[in-house]
Amino acid sequence: MDYQALAELLYPSLRHDCDYYEKLYPERDLPEGARVTRFAPSPTGYLHLGGVYQVMCDERLAHRSDGVFMLRIEDTGSKRELADGIRVICDGVAKFGIKIDEGVGIDGETGKYGPYIQSRRAEIYHTFAKKLVAEGKAYPCFCSAERLEAMRAEQEAAKVNPGYYGKYAVCRELSYEEVKAHLDNGDKFVLRFKACPTGERPNFTDCVRGRIDVPENDIDMVIIKSDGIPVYHFAHVVDDHLMRTTHVVRGEEWLATLPLHVQLFEAFGWKRPEYIHTATIMKLDNGGKRKLSKRKDPEAAVEYFFTEGYPKEALIDYLLMLLNSNYEEWRSENPDASYEEFPYAVEKMSNSGCLFDFSKLYDISKNVISRMNAEEAYASSILWSEKYDEAWHTLFTADPEKAGAVLSVGRGGERPRKDIGTGKELPAYAGFCFDETFAPDYAPLAGFDKDDVKKVFETYPSLWDAEDDQQTWFNRIKELAVSMGYAPDTKTWKKNKESYKGHAGDISMMLRVAVTGRTNSPDLCEVMKILGAEKVKERLDKAAAAL
Ligand code: GLU
Repeated sequence: MDYQALAELLYPSLRHDCDYYEKLYPERDLPEGARVTRFAPSPTGYLHLGGVYQVMCDERLAHRSDGVFMLRIEDTGSKRELADGIRVICDGVAKFGIKIDEGVGIDGETGKYGPYIQSRRAEIYHTFAKKLVAEGKAYPCFCSAERLEAMRAEQEAAKVNPGYYGKYAVCRELSYEEVKAHLDNGDKFVLRFKACPTGERPNFTDCVRGRIDVPENDIDMVIIKSDGIPVYHFAHVVDDHLMRTTHVVRGEEWLATLPLHVQLFEAFGWKRPEYIHTATIMKLDNGGKRKLSKRKDPEAAVEYFFTEGYPKEALIDYLLMLLNSNYEEWRSENPDASYEEFPYAVEKMSNSGCLFDFSKLYDISKNVISRMNAEEAYASSILWSEKYDEAWHTLFTADPEKAGAVLSVGRGGERPRKDIGTGKELPAYAGFCFDETFAPDYAPLAGFDKDDVKKVFETYPSLWDAEDDQQTWFNRIKELAVSMGYAPDTKTWKKNKESYKGHAGDISMMLRVAVTGRTNSPDLCEVMKILGAEKVKERLDKAAAAL
């Protein structure tokens, strides 16, 4: 068979040959050890948490080695793709503040190794497919769906492996004339890769999993579909070669077809990239583990976390903690360092399952938020509110100084308060500072003597001084308490309960309930300063009227 003639017959009008593309996309001129990685999602209109998990790994590998991180869009699948699928991915990655060096962005493509959208690379795929045909390594297959169905039934009956191989691979034997007759007849063909099994299990390693033991591929797999579009396996090999990818980080679902990818790299005589197959993110459900499901679990989409107002820093910390076993320890030793300073290492990646733990993320998020200074907390919270809670946004940003003051309470110092874990919790936490969202629950006041409560509310405004520091502020409450027959502190009260109506803490609780509308609030002395004398008095009067 004259394979060269067959190649010309199948792909007569390509503008370039493979050498042209090899020169167009030369080896990259990067420092020794630089890693070139890519995130290669399908534009399904959805950015899965597992995708960002891979992005973090890709990004760290590339940027810690002065390498390149690319975003490639794999839109050759037959699944329905949403019109704004690319935007959802770009937006999602951008929300993490991650820099994409090359590839697809919201405003188009950048980089010299493109196009980075697979549907724009048809001619490249055909050129390389043609090369395989010309070397007798791929061939057209005209088998109809019915013929393939019959083959499957025959294989089932004979209890042999299913698939297009050996004696079942009838189109392997087609002559040039037969192929030509099919084409003249307008018949569609798929291109199959001629598997040449050696009978030995292939030997390859994954950077994280070590030696991978999967059976070699002995099926003549389709590499180009009848519409001329390549399947994932072929596009992966061609793209990652031409884009000079050094490390392929992808889901473990691709392990099973790795033998085919290896054969394709060998057929072209190309060096294959290193592989890192990431574990699927699982969640606990009913005592068992299952995959995070797009249908059942809102948290499978990263957008969910932004809707809730998790700061990106918390998500990054959490994902890096899942990715590198020593990240958590590093973070506790370096609470204020940027994650970029962490010595991310492939060797520290875990090769076991990956369990998504909401409460862990929430704790991390509380830590992250508590470590922010007031300006950072403000910026982070309004990033959330401007998109997800308009009413609160308007209220909170109307007086940024006040908002900043509200957020400063309990911040700084060795043990900052950890009141909120998400932006969504801020309105409930800080809402009492604004009349519009002040929704007091006075019920706890019923636990105190009504006349005493009234007296406290009447007397307190004249005692309060905005200049008081914490200690003086509390001393005044103590004095008021003592003057009303309450103990100055709980210790004194506990020793001699019969002699007192209660203790100073009861007085501050009455004030807290009146001023903040609840029993648990940030530092009351600070809160009163933010509200000011007039507002404090107004709230005390309001509470008194409700008695
Ligand atoms: N488009 C493939 C996926 O979404 C990419 C796998 C890869 O990174 O090679 O699973």
